[in-house]
Amino acid sequence: MCGIVGYIGDKNCVPILIEGLKRLEYRGYDSAGVGIINSTECKVLKTKGKVSELEKLVFAEQIDSGLGIGHTRWATHGEPSTINAHPHLNKDKTLFLIHNGIIENYLSLKKGLEKEGYEFISETDTEVLAHLIDHYLKLKNSLFQAVRYALNEVEGTYGICVIYNGEKDKIVAARKGSPLVLGIGNNENFVASDVNALIAHTKQVVYLEDGEIAEIYKDHFTTKTIADETIIKEIFEVEVGVDEITKGGYPHFMLKEIMDQPDSIFNSMRGRLVYDEGISKLGGLQGFEERIINSKRILITACGTSWHAGLVGEYMLEQYAGIPVEVEYASEFRYRHPIITKDDTVIFISQSGETADTLAAMKEAKKKGALCLGICNVVGSSIARESDAGVYIHAGPEIGVASTKAFTAQISVLALITLLLARRRNLSLPEGQEIINEMRLLTKKVEMILKQNENIEKIAGQYMNCKNFLYLGRGYNFPVALEGALKLKEISYIHAEGYPAAEMKHGPIALIDDDMPVVFIATKDSVYDKVISNIQEVRARKGRILAIVNEGDEQIENMVDHVIKVPKTHNMLTPILTVIPLQLIAYHIAVKKGLNVDQPRNLAKSVTVE
Ligand code: GLU
Repeated sequence: MCGIVGYIGDKNCVPILIEGLKRLEYRGYDSAGVGIINSTECKVLKTKGKVSELEKLVFAEQIDSGLGIGHTRWATHGEPSTINAHPHLNKDKTLFLIHNGIIENYLSLKKGLEKEGYEFISETDTEVLAHLIDHYLKLKNSLFQAVRYALNEVEGTYGICVIYNGEKDKIVAARKGSPLVLGIGNNENFVASDVNALIAHTKQVVYLEDGEIAEIYKDHFTTKTIADETIIKEIFEVEVGVDEITKGGYPHFMLKEIMDQPDSIFNSMRGRLVYDEGISKLGGLQGFEERIINSKRILITACGTSWHAGLVGEYMLEQYAGIPVEVEYASEFRYRHPIITKDDTVIFISQSGETADTLAAMKEAKKKGALCLGICNVVGSSIARESDAGVYIHAGPEIGVASTKAFTAQISVLALITLLLARRRNLSLPEGQEIINEMRLLTKKVEMILKQNENIEKIAGQYMNCKNFLYLGRGYNFPVALEGALKLKEISYIHAEGYPAAEMKHGPIALIDDDMPVVFIATKDSVYDKVISNIQEVRARKGRILAIVNEGDEQIENMVDHVIKVPKTHNMLTPILTVIPLQLIAYHIAVKKGLNVDQPRNLAKSVTVE
């Protein structure tokens, strides 16, 4: 699920692999390794821990070669250790393999190989692939055919790269369920699990699809299906610039991405608002609008933060477009035999566009004839390519593992979709124009919140030693409560729960004492008075309260320990503003605790395993 980089060409692959792995570090990993083959030797270097450690090992060896592969591992089978790190090798140490994903039938494959005399040194599922390919190499005498035959026996998911001392002119790469992209250069070619690892070298890329195997030479490449049929692939030009994936002077990507939000929200709406008609224009939905408008039901499927954005989408679409909406975890949707018909539109939200559960849910919905729409950030990602239609959020690369600017841009895109459907159904022109006016003001309003960063940092200092938090909100702010709690859990490892505020009295209220801070998101909306009652209930039990309120709200300010004020906006856009102080609170608490906010433990950015 983590990082793959491969290089073949005239240059020394070592700095290219190390730099590529560094650009993939943001995805989260626990160990790293490289495999390099040159005219005299086959070298594997691996380490538990950071790419910077690997870099020291590799540069100490002074290797020079035009053929190599590198990997960052996110352990699924076997603890993070040097032995379990990739590449994995065949018996003769002449074949190196790196793998993202899970080989589900590895135990039965392993038993068969052990009977043949193969010995295993790691606990990984991946090692079976190295030996299985070795087994077929002896029979077929061709690396490509050996990989093809081996993969025909495999159940599970993989993105793999293989190099072999007997065929030094190529890298063989294959994918099923884990992304792989080829980078096409001049007398050099690349392969990676993510375009970020390539864009310093080339903008010309080829996306491998599931069931495809590529042979990558330094001056050309060929692609075939796993059934050995030749396929011609299209070359795409990527737009991401290298400067977009630097920290831009900020200490962490996460802070940079929080601060980016005036721009990323603006970019998510750019060119999509038509004021005169009070409607939005979404090129990615063209040709499908009638079908969406006439859907009997909209389902939204996603995981994690994107799922929270989906909940906001449910509230907006039902309130303004008047279409019934259901939101479901992608991981449940795919296994639960959901009832889906041709009259349904299913929206799949994923920042990376590679989330395994969401992708699988999409395949299920497609099979059942529903219209499948993707809302993704990464251009050309699997969900973007495989959906019938969709809308990019255009938030720019999000490197911090904890999603921030993608969340606000997802909500902005859901608001655009809502506006489109609502205007085509019942919403009046002035109401549509009012939403557009408010959308245009978001950039300024977000800037006003970000200006309070120093004050928010001080408030974070007062709460950093608490062991548990409760986040409460109602209406549009209920999903924000869930998202605020998730941010805190993800990066500061503090236990936090999000609830609809009124649910508190059905259980969580039992937890409240002077040790349990409660974060209320209490903007002036239709449920404001009800939230005030919930605040009183917490006060009566001596709970400490931090409240996110609207500017000018003195009533709550006088009742609670701390307030952070956000400008008022259209009710359906409220989450875009109220979530920002919560992102900053989580960020500052994690930094004050000395934690690695960009790569929190156990988490990966793009979750390409189930
Ligand atoms: N399942 C493999 C392992 O545990 C690959 C994990 C990954 O995707 O990094 O080694």
